[in-house]
Amino acid sequence: MNLASFTTLRAGGAAEFFGSVATSGDLAEISAAAHHAGIKVTILGAGSNMLPSDDGVPGLTLRNQAARIAVAKTGEVLADTGCAFQELFLKAAQAGLRGLEFAVGIPGTLGGALASNAGAYRSNVSEFITRLDLVHDGERKWVGPEYLKFSYRDSVLRQPNPPQITVLRVEMKLPKGNPKQIYDEAREYQRQRISKQPPQASAGSFFKNVTDRAFAESLDGLSETLKKAGVVPAGFLIEAAGLKGFRMGGAMQGARHANFILNVGNATSFEIRKLACHTRQVVFDKFGVLLEEEVLYLGDWSRFAA
Ligand SMILES: Cc1cc2nc3c(=O)[nH]c(=O)nc-3n(C[C@H](O)[C@H](O)[C@H](O)COP(=O)(O)OP(=O)(O)OC[C@H]3O[C@@H](n4cnc5c(N)ncnc54)[C@H](O)[C@@H]3O)c2cc1C
Repeated sequence: MNLASFTTLRAGGAAEFFGSVATSGDLAEISAAAHHAGIKVTILGAGSNMLPSDDGVPGLTLRNQAARIAVAKTGEVLADTGCAFQELFLKAAQAGLRGLEFAVGIPGTLGGALASNAGAYRSNVSEFITRLDLVHDGERKWVGPEYLKFSYRDSVLRQPNPPQITVLRVEMKLPKGNPKQIYDEAREYQRQRISKQPPQASAGSFFKNVTDRAFAESLDGLSETLKKAGVVPAGFLIEAAGLKGFRMGGAMQGARHANFILNVGNATSFEIRKLACHTRQVVFDKFGVLLEEEVLYLGDWSRFAA
């Protein structure tokens, strides 16, 4: 099965084996069985934070469509990882619970949000997690959030050779909120996104922002708020390096938001990664800072040369 149509960047080769699951029970059973058969499992959510290689993804790619959500008015939430992160926000908001407003406009599943500890507007998904139901090396268990070692846009699920973990369900505790404030805040975030985000195929921000106070303070043109926070947006560096709107083949650095890489003309995965490598190099030559990808490269990249 070709994976391009399952990714928001619309690029990538085939999965060696492919399947879809609709319940967390099936997700658990198949993950465990594949592990015991020595087959590597890759979970596919909405494909909005990944770039599968043109040369394909070995092992079993399992599309997670298990999407049950249970929300108690007291704040306890139990959700399958295949649910849309935005749907989880909506269900929580309907129950008068706040905290997930930042999820509006993030087009992925809850599982994908865990892998990169997805967030926006100074909030992250990991803040609210109490327990996780997962399968690790074929064994199903409940664990605390520390098991996934969350940090800024990071977790163990993103390691170069990630442990064989399939997260099935997430338990959260959300605080009560004022319904009007919850919807107003979500609407404001949505408005800001619409003004910044390009409509073309992308995986959102391609690189992580840089956290370094001394570096932030040394930069002309960076806002005082960001200098104080010690945060340098990757888009600021890419734009300052003259790469806003820069195009290589069918791949282009965003003209509106420089940290998006857009697929504007049937770009292959190799073309997209080539542009990313070029951008990293130009930014490094100008600022001495090596940008780190937020988007995950999956599969066999052995033939890729930057
Ligand atoms: C327009 C746009 C805007 C975006 N804005 C933001 C933003 O503001 N903030 C932000 O953080 N991100 C943003 N993103 C990136 C992306 O949407 C998020 O990272 C999202 O949470 C990824 O979810 P997904 O289901 O698409 O993950 P996928 O891309 O399908 O998977 C990502 C990784 O997670 C792993 N994975 C998925 N599910 C599981 C599971 N159940 N168990 C174990 N591993 C799993 C996959 O194997 C893969 O390694 C944006 C993307 C786009 C296209």
